[in-house]
Amino acid sequence: MAEPKMKINVTKTFLPPIEEYQSQLQRAWKNEWLTNRGELVLELEANLKNHLKVSNIILMNNGTIPLQIALKLLGKNGEIITTPFSYVATTSAIVWENCTPVFVDIHPEYLTIDENKIKDAITDKTTAILATHVFGNPCHLEAIEAIAREHHLAVIYDAAHCFGVTYKGKSVFDYGTASSCSFHATKLFHTGEGGAVFCNDEQLFDKFYQSHNFGHKTALDFHGLGINGKMSELQAALGLAVLPYMTHITEGRKKAVTFYNEHLDFTLLQRMKIREFTEWNYSYYPVIFQDEAQLLKIESALVKEDVIPRRYFYPSLNNLPYCKNSPMPNSESVSSSILCLPLYADMPLTDLERIAHIVNTNLSV
Ligand SMILES: *Cc1c(COP(=O)(O)O)cnc(C)c1O
Repeated sequence: MAEPKMKINVTKTFLPPIEEYQSQLQRAWKNEWLTNRGELVLELEANLKNHLKVSNIILMNNGTIPLQIALKLLGKNGEIITTPFSYVATTSAIVWENCTPVFVDIHPEYLTIDENKIKDAITDKTTAILATHVFGNPCHLEAIEAIAREHHLAVIYDAAHCFGVTYKGKSVFDYGTASSCSFHATKLFHTGEGGAVFCNDEQLFDKFYQSHNFGHKTALDFHGLGINGKMSELQAALGLAVLPYMTHITEGRKKAVTFYNEHLDFTLLQRMKIREFTEWNYSYYPVIFQDEAQLLKIESALVKEDVIPRRYFYPSLNNLPYCKNSPMPNSESVSSSILCLPLYADMPLTDLERIAHIVNTNLSV
């Protein structure tokens, strides 16, 4: 019988040699310590600070909890100006924390929130801006900072896709009142499930720290309300085993991105414009078709050949059933016509050639 053909998914989780994961796990066994900020979590925090050149980080159990804590601390049940083009967690975190999302449409080429439309959405109930550096492409950081300063708003960045991204030579995690990252298995750097918050304000950093550990001050005394956002030693063990491979992962992805850039037919396709002064991380390969019909045609041609792209991000979040809808023409148009092509380190050239061929031959007819 023929071997079943392996599907090529939109991404493939990087798995380090299992012995390297096991040797990290052995440390946890030796310590007989599995969570509550043990040796491995502390070491991963130190290594990540070094790797990312950031001055602070708190590891958490996923990339959604830091958003929720940020909204709890800074959103204050108010209106949050946000992007309709992101993963659902950006919006659901706002609603879950009893704040109200107020959508502002995206820039059609950068795909990030349109900074020029933010001011019109500000009311006396606005408390914060929550914007996503979508696919690792930074928002207009300076413009957003200026608006926030003028109107006394907090800026929370959903930087889930931004591992390793720099803007003007500085980690994007260094911008805004606070930034979150996700270390989910589908993300560039991962701990299976996991995430982190970055925050340069010392007082606020302390609040994040307390909040992610039930509000504990000591075992018997509390600062205030908190939740369980702690990363475990088992997650940190995987992170410690993956981190040494980041150059390999990024270089491998860069090769695949370069191939797509050189071989896809961009007379009939649009790609995301990377913000100026950005060192990007090759986290996704989104392509924008003429319309949804063309997207559906090419998606099914790919699926027929066992290539599984993903419609990141669909639907436009203003259309979620629990949100008050206001039309967002750019976001709705991009959402209905954008597809992320498979991208990961170690993608064989033959797979890349096959994918580019299927896309190109189905574009024109
Ligand atoms: C992955 C992702 C999240 C959620 O992160 P988890 O670690 O899965 O909780 C939030 N926002 C965006 C934009 C994401 O892509």
